[in-house]
Amino acid sequence: MATSAIDWHARARELSIDGRMVIDGVRRSAASGETFTCISPINGQPLGEVARGRAADVDAAVASARAAFDDGRWAHMAPAVRKKILQRFADAILAAKDELAMLETVDMGKPIQYSLSVDVPAAARCIHWYAEAVDKVYDQIAPTPRSALALITREPVGVVGAIVPWNYPMIMAAWKLGPALAAGNSVVLKPSEKSPLTALRLADLAVAAGIPPGVFNVVPGHGAEAGEALALHMDVDAIGFTGSTRTGRRMLDYASRSNLKRVYNELGGKSAFVVFDDFQDIGRAAVTAAGSLFFNQGESCNAPSRVLVHDSVADEFIARVVAETPSYQPADPLLPGTVMGAVVDDQQLRTVLGYIEAGHAEGAQCVAGGQQARVASGGCYVQPTVFAGVSNTMRIAREEIFGPVLGIIRFRTESEAIALANDSPYGLQASVWSHDINRAHRVARALRAGTVHVNQYDEDDITVPFGGFKQSGNGRDKSLHAFDKYTELKTTWIRID
Ligand code: NAD
Repeated sequence: MATSAIDWHARARELSIDGRMVIDGVRRSAASGETFTCISPINGQPLGEVARGRAADVDAAVASARAAFDDGRWAHMAPAVRKKILQRFADAILAAKDELAMLETVDMGKPIQYSLSVDVPAAARCIHWYAEAVDKVYDQIAPTPRSALALITREPVGVVGAIVPWNYPMIMAAWKLGPALAAGNSVVLKPSEKSPLTALRLADLAVAAGIPPGVFNVVPGHGAEAGEALALHMDVDAIGFTGSTRTGRRMLDYASRSNLKRVYNELGGKSAFVVFDDFQDIGRAAVTAAGSLFFNQGESCNAPSRVLVHDSVADEFIARVVAETPSYQPADPLLPGTVMGAVVDDQQLRTVLGYIEAGHAEGAQCVAGGQQARVASGGCYVQPTVFAGVSNTMRIAREEIFGPVLGIIRFRTESEAIALANDSPYGLQASVWSHDINRAHRVARALRAGTVHVNQYDEDDITVPFGGFKQSGNGRDKSLHAFDKYTELKTTWIRID
């Protein structure tokens, strides 16, 4: 059936959630028997009970992952064999696209059309891509004297703890699972307590596709319980973390307090979107800023939430952004035409509304939105909101809001724009809009960010690294570079007589 013809409400009503964890290839309850209730931000209604993992469950999952790693049931398979199994896993994700998309939507509030067209295909493509890559990467031989041979090989790091956020639950999990599994590691995945449902189903699909038991475990639970236990575990070799800078800081602390496990942090952002007066289509820049910021309810780490516009075109830019906001009014995420859904939960709703209040209090002008929406639904919705007259010292310019709130700052010179853009603790992404080729290159080089976009903001692909400078993190997800996180380099010297 065409997905647009599906009655997603009817499907949601039929939903029956299995919230048990996946350890050693089988579903099981938490050792304590405890659960937590998974609430849908669409309407505030419970979706089901999910196992509340704690240290004992993490111990069991890590023991299973360690046993699987040590006996080589996965790590010692020929890369071409792991490839075939991972391809089956990716195909299974695509085959289950309706179910996975609906779970993602009811669990964290994003519009069903994007769960279907973005989240499921991107997760599957990621797994496919690393599967395809793994039997095409070669190791090295060093240029030694003839009396010896030195091999430089990559070996899986061992047991990987993957701790992921709620904003793109499946994609974030896939960005860890793809390279970690392809390289031969065993993984314990800890999804966010705000969106655990698709991770559990991914593990079922992986086991059915032939990934051996113990190689991919999922322990849902709270950050301070399951997450902390995983990051402190003495038998976890690396943590692939995506989440807030606040928690990323803790990851480094956990590693230093335990076994110095490798920590790769993918953290928050406050990405600058710099529009110069020589850009000939201010309307296109404004439409792109609005589209990129309001996508996923503003809950994207790389959302261009700090828009810097040359003073001479700022009025036109603001008018065009404001004109875009009616098309982003939040609506029921299960309706096929909805473009902006619910923010993830009541806590995030209050955080976003708190930042809107802070914007008012610090003197920024709210030129669109600014209110909670769809209150009668019982869900968590915020109007698309635009602040003009923002200064880079205000909280709404310095802190990550993670909601549909766009702030516009004026500048007068190129050097001022660069200084403002770089005056942030974050450095995830940035963009420059200019038709002067010299300026575009000059500014792109000067911006301190892991990705810089020129005259667009939407290009993205699994083939390029994704990650940040400064307090936006250290590791890189995606591309062949992600293998660096999940492998150790080994040198083997061989004497030749
Ligand atoms: P968060 O830091 O609150 O939680 C992320 C994960 O860490 C969750 O699984 C959570 O349970 C766990 N966690 C929380 N506290 C913990 C603790 N004390 N010990 C161990 N684990 C703990 O982040 P969030 O609110 O889920 O996600 C939003 C953040 O993620 C934003 O800052 C966003 O920018 C960032 N993010 C970054 C990227 C990137 O690639 N750089 C991508 C997506 C999201």
